[in-house]
Amino acid sequence: MNTETNPTMVENNVVVTLEYELKVDGEVVDSSENGDPIVFLQGAEQIVIGLEKGIYGMKLGETREITVLPAEGYGEYDENGIVEVARKEFPPDFPLEPGVEITVHTDGEDEDSENEIQEATIVSVNKYVVTLNFNHPLAGKTLDFKVKVVDLREATEEEIEHGHVHGEG
Ligand code: ZN
Repeated sequence: MNTETNPTMVENNVVVTLEYELKVDGEVVDSSENGDPIVFLQGAEQIVIGLEKGIYGMKLGETREITVLPAEGYGEYDENGIVEVARKEFPPDFPLEPGVEITVHTDGEDEDSENEIQEATIVSVNKYVVTLNFNHPLAGKTLDFKVKVVDLREATEEEIEHGHVHGEG
């Protein structure tokens, strides 16, 4: 039997359960209040890197406000992420409406390259052209997190090896 005590603060190879609220431009865009807290392996880059850096050393039950700049959040906004595609490339019954998020499969250039799957948001649609934005919806945004550590436990060797958390069951 393993009777080790749980870790007392956030450090690498600790499984962290975190309640969070994310504000962007002063508005709450995501929070654990309507769902479950996030559970992740600290040090495995399972969460945005700026948040991971910001929670090191936090103790069980501690709350903290962490501001994450775009470079350590969802990246800088990239003008090259705006791409125009001919409308005829889409199936006739495809719901082409601004704001709709779509998944784009791109075939590899040659048989050795892998097919890529990318998320994009439809920016605008006209008779011939659909404009897509491949930036993450929060690219270029400063992220204001308010977090609370609600559980800490030692990761298993297998979890550390895999770089992610395994379920309880
Ligand atoms: Zn695994």
